[in-house]
Amino acid sequence: MSDKNDWRLSDHDEFYNNLQLKHAQYKRPSESWDHDHCEFCFDKFSEYEGDLHEGYCTLDNYHWICEVCFNDFKDLFNWSVINNI
Ligand SMILES: [Zn+2]
Repeated sequence: MSDKNDWRLSDHDEFYNNLQLKHAQYKRPSESWDHDHCEFCFDKFSEYEGDLHEGYCTLDNYHWICEVCFNDFKDLFNWSVINNI
């Protein structure tokens, strides 16, 4: 459930309101950059075993959100998912 007092929301601001997201497989962006963290709970995305391999990201592939946080906060932040880009 979404809750404005959730610990994962402590540093968040308007940036996250009304984001457009896509569901995607995580691919390492470059040789020197092989992982990202969920914007909210900091779970790790990478191509390595034991890490998350897919989730939701902003259309520029820069900000990643795990499935759990997506489901918890999509209504709070009014996110929309864009398919077929
Ligand atoms: Zn998360």
